[in-house]
Amino acid sequence: MITNMKSLKIILEKEGIKPTYQRLKILEYMSRNTVNHPTVEMIYERLLKDIPTISMTTVYNTLSAFLEKGLVGAITITGTEMRYDFNTASHHHFLCKQCGRIIDIEVTCPFSEGKKLQHGHRVEEIHGYFKGICKDCLKDMKNSVKESNP
Ligand SMILES: [Zn+2]
Ligand SMILES: [Zn+2]
Repeated sequence: MITNMKSLKIILEKEGIKPTYQRLKILEYMSRNTVNHPTVEMIYERLLKDIPTISMTTVYNTLSAFLEKGLVGAITITGTEMRYDFNTASHHHFLCKQCGRIIDIEVTCPFSEGKKLQHGHRVEEIHGYFKGICKDCLKDMKNSVKESNP
């Protein structure tokens, strides 16, 4: 995992993005929060504690630039918001309808990047969105049933 500022700086410079302090902090947040698939708001609220001058627009624009350069991925599994992902390798997602967690999942997919579909369309990205109840919430539900029916 990349967590030191120096290597984050190199990543931005390689993509032609000027490594300002705020951009570095945003990339650092992304590299340290690989499991929560944050929204712009989540990143903004966290960084505001360290950088009182940061604006939501800066966070939004920075994420858009990262996305364009392929430094982060984006998913819209909830249907209402963009969630950013530091893991840019091909993988799918599971949304828990109970707690709202978005979990990375590995499933074998019959399609793959670079392959051509039957009409000759070239696939460049594949996003699988699975929705249901995560195993932790299932456990809680089972326990609460037990408690109400002793
Ligand atoms: Zn859950
Ligand atoms: Zn992911």
